[in-house]
Amino acid sequence: MIKRQTTINRIFRITGIGLHTGQPVTLEFIPRREFGIAFVFKGITIPARYDMVADTRLSTLIARDGASVSTIEHLMAAFYFSGITNCLVYIDGPEVPILDGSAWEFYQGMWKAGIYEFQENGVYLKVQRAVEVMHNDAWVRIKPHNTLDITMTIEFRQPVGKQKKRVTDVENAFSIINSRTFTLLEEIEAIKKAGLAKGGSLDNAVVIGMDDIVNPQGLRYRKELVNHKILDLIGDLYTSGFRIMGKVEANKTGHYLNNLLLKELFSDPANYSIY
Ligand SMILES: [Zn+2]
Repeated sequence: MIKRQTTINRIFRITGIGLHTGQPVTLEFIPRREFGIAFVFKGITIPARYDMVADTRLSTLIARDGASVSTIEHLMAAFYFSGITNCLVYIDGPEVPILDGSAWEFYQGMWKAGIYEFQENGVYLKVQRAVEVMHNDAWVRIKPHNTLDITMTIEFRQPVGKQKKRVTDVENAFSIINSRTFTLLEEIEAIKKAGLAKGGSLDNAVVIGMDDIVNPQGLRYRKELVNHKILDLIGDLYTSGFRIMGKVEANKTGHYLNNLLLKELFSDPANYSIY
């Protein structure tokens, strides 16, 4: 568990293709003295913060002054798990690479780069009052707790069905980091027709067929799918700018509700304290 602000110890790069554009993109990670994670695209610095989120339909997209970066959630989760609070990410395209569909390669890169610790605190946000948001049958709520504790429920057609998982100590829940994104087989055609997911393949997503998982290697974990939804939630919660301490319960939540939860949380300073 980190106590103070941190950054990476040395510069490193990661290259991969964007899931939707199918184009190669390179990220360059630069140590930062200033608090927070921010992307730099076309010379514009975009804080990776909930109030910069401009689209949540396919992924979490941040935008500022005409520049945007999409699919930041897995990278943000890797920053969370690495304990890094300050970093600049230079990117040469509009979409963070999908890599294997999880946060694993980002996490490895950060781990190899090492961590530099500053003297300043102010990295934890403790929830003081319960907050809840909902949309149709999906909802997510957070209440006071002394760790980040997440319970997630998802429900899809068979063979997935309903899956539920609780992680009581998220900072050390390493099976979340390499759990991959997933899609239903019937959704792929519609997505490709819309000109999206040009970079999608069995190398970067779990595909759920009618009876079984299409990927020849199957799943990495029995609960990989619900694990991945927890990964997305952790990445989205880290756009708060802080390491949140609170008990989260979520049902079928996604990027839209995750962002709405943060907006609700920050709408009243009595809901939280920073230390
Ligand atoms: Zn995801």
